[in-house]
Amino acid sequence: MTTPEVQQTLAKAAGFSGTSLHTGEKVSLKLQPAPVDHGIKFKRKDLQDEPTIDAKIDNLKTVERATTIGEGSVRVHTVEHILSALSAMGVDNAIVEMDANEPPIGDGSAQPYVDVIKRAGLTPQEAPRKFLDVREPVHVESKTGALLVLLPDENFRISCTQAGPNNRFTQFFSTEITPATFEREIAPARTFVYYEDVRALMDKNLIKGGSIENAVVVRGDAVLSKEPLRFEDEFVRHKILDIIGDLALVGRRIRGHVVAIKPGHAANAELARALAREQTRRSALEVPRAMPRGDGGLNTDEVMQILPHRYPFLMVDRIVDFEGENKITGVKLVSINEPFFQGHFPGHPVMPGVMLVEAMAQVASVLLFKLAKTSSRIGYFMSADGVKFRKPVFPGDTIFIHAELTKARGNRLAKAKCHCVVNDAVVSEGELMFTFLER
Ligand SMILES: [Zn+2]
Repeated sequence: MTTPEVQQTLAKAAGFSGTSLHTGEKVSLKLQPAPVDHGIKFKRKDLQDEPTIDAKIDNLKTVERATTIGEGSVRVHTVEHILSALSAMGVDNAIVEMDANEPPIGDGSAQPYVDVIKRAGLTPQEAPRKFLDVREPVHVESKTGALLVLLPDENFRISCTQAGPNNRFTQFFSTEITPATFEREIAPARTFVYYEDVRALMDKNLIKGGSIENAVVVRGDAVLSKEPLRFEDEFVRHKILDIIGDLALVGRRIRGHVVAIKPGHAANAELARALAREQTRRSALEVPRAMPRGDGGLNTDEVMQILPHRYPFLMVDRIVDFEGENKITGVKLVSINEPFFQGHFPGHPVMPGVMLVEAMAQVASVLLFKLAKTSSRIGYFMSADGVKFRKPVFPGDTIFIHAELTKARGNRLAKAKCHCVVNDAVVSEGELMFTFLER
C-alpha cells in the first residue's frame, strides 16, 4: 500500500506584477496559502469588500478566447494559465489575490506562475487529496471540430493534436502531467494567435495589452514573436497547458488520459462540466466519508444476524455509522426491483411511506440491540408519532436512515427519533416507540 497523497498549499505568500491582457493596465498578483478543502479562489482586492470567486466549473461564464469565471456581477478573466500552473505544480489550496479583473499575462505562457509558485514553496496538509478516477470513456465534441476523449488511466496524461487553418502547424504531443514534466515541457509554451484574429480584436480595442511580447503571432506560414519558438511544437504544448487549466475547474485531480483533437476552451469546459456532473452523481451514491470500516459499521450479513427480517422485508442494507451510545445511521439502496414498485404504482414507482417507517424501525432496532447486547429479546415496534413524509423516494435513491435514542425506560421501553435522508434532503421523519419481549 502506498500512502495516500495529501493536499498541498503554498508555504508562504508570493507575488509578481505585470500587464493585464485585455485592459493593458498594471496588475499585481499575490498567491496566499489556504486551508484544507479550500480549493483555489480568486480574490478581487480592487473591489469593495474584496469578493472571492471559486475556481469551479459552476462559475464558468465565457470561453471566448480565454476562460472567464464569475460570481454575481464579479468576473475574473483569463484564469486558465494560472490554474494550469497551480494544478500541475500540485497546489490544491490557495487564494489568488489580484488588483484587477485578470492576472498579469506575462509572456503568454505559464512560466511566470510556475516561478511564483516555486518562490512560495509547497507545504503538505493533513487531508488526503481528492481524485476523480475515470472509470469509463467520456467524450465531448464541438461543431468547430474539437474532440476530447477521456479514458481510464492510473495517472493524469494528455495526448493532443493541434491543427491550424488548412492544417498548417499540425502538431502532436503526449505526456503524463507531473510537476516535473509540466515545468519542463508545458509551462514555457506561449499563447499563439492568428494574425487575422488579433487584427480584428485590436481594431475593436479588445486586447490593449496584447503584443508579440505575450503571444506568438502566426501570419500565414510565418511566425512572429519576440523570441524564437521555445519548442518546435510549442503550439500543441500550449493547447495542453490550456486543457490542464480548464480541467482544473473540476476541483479534483483527474486520474485519466485526455485524448484531444483540436481542443479549445469551449470543448475543454464542456468536458469539465461532464466530469463535474459525474462527480456529483458519484457523491450521491457514496457512503459518508466518516463510514467506519471493520468494527465501526455492519455489513448485510451482520445486520441479518441481528434483525429477523428477510427479503422482501429487510429495509437496511448496511449500518454505516454508530455515533456514541445512542445514534446510528443505516443505508438502504432503493432498486427498481423492490417488489412493492410493481403495484405502487405501475408506471410511476414511488416507495410507500410505510416502508420508510419500517426502515426507520429496523435501523432503530439495531441500535437497541447494540445497547441490550443480547439477541434473546426482540424489540417490537409499538407506536409512531409525528410521522411526516416530505418528499417521494424513487428507484435509484440511496436512503440514509438516522435514528437517535431519546428515551429508554428500564429494559422495557425505548423511544427513537428517526429521519430518512436522500440527496441531503429529509424525505421522512418520525418518533418511534419500542417494547422488548423475549423471543
Ligand atoms: Zn492559453
